[in-house]
Amino acid sequence: MRAAGRVVAEMHERIRAAVRPGVTTAQLDAVGREVIERRGATSNFLGYHGFPAVICASPNDVIVHGIPGAITLEEGDIISIDCGAVVDGWHGDAAFTMGVGEISAEARRLIEVTEASLHAGIAAMVVGNHIGDIGAAVQGVVEAAGYSVVEEYVGHGIGRAMHESPEVPNHGRPGRGGKLHAGMTLAVEPMVNIGSAETFLTEDGWTVVTADQALSAHFEHTIAITDHGPEILTLP
Ligand code: MG
Ligand code: MG
Repeated sequence: MRAAGRVVAEMHERIRAAVRPGVTTAQLDAVGREVIERRGATSNFLGYHGFPAVICASPNDVIVHGIPGAITLEEGDIISIDCGAVVDGWHGDAAFTMGVGEISAEARRLIEVTEASLHAGIAAMVVGNHIGDIGAAVQGVVEAAGYSVVEEYVGHGIGRAMHESPEVPNHGRPGRGGKLHAGMTLAVEPMVNIGSAETFLTEDGWTVVTADQALSAHFEHTIAITDHGPEILTLP
């Protein structure tokens, strides 16, 4: 899973470097595809329930699952990229949000708070804690900032498949839910809206947007719980 995680991290690095005004989300998908092929990995996104690309590209009010295509990114947009890779049957899955050129202070704060909420969730991934401690930590950071946590889409166990049990909600109560054990591998992925938490699935059957059309951000890592604390697997 570390090997798969490193491929995902390289996809992130290359895609980050390619994001600029004028680039299309299809071009960003091609960057991700190149990394997967060069590293001899396979994509767990391509063909997933028919998904046509190796990344999800979700600009501005798109929360998750945006399909790459002819959409051209413009100065001031924000873009969430979610992607994964499989090496020797083991899966990695991670996401980030970044600005395109100069972005508003509000957009920058949303991105910072969402990333901070992921790291608060990761810090709660210690042996003896519960699934609810992760969600409570994420939710605490998000709501303290005045933003809302998307509840319909959640993190998940990951290993031989991209999505395994348990579900890892981005909200919860400390001490509730299943216990965390050493050797568990989870994908934690807060989706955070500036406005209301309400979501809307568009007619392509994939793209999930905010119902109020306000901005949304998404960060995710694949993490192993060890006796020495959480280990992020989707880092370079
Ligand atoms: Mg993901
Ligand atoms: Mg995931």
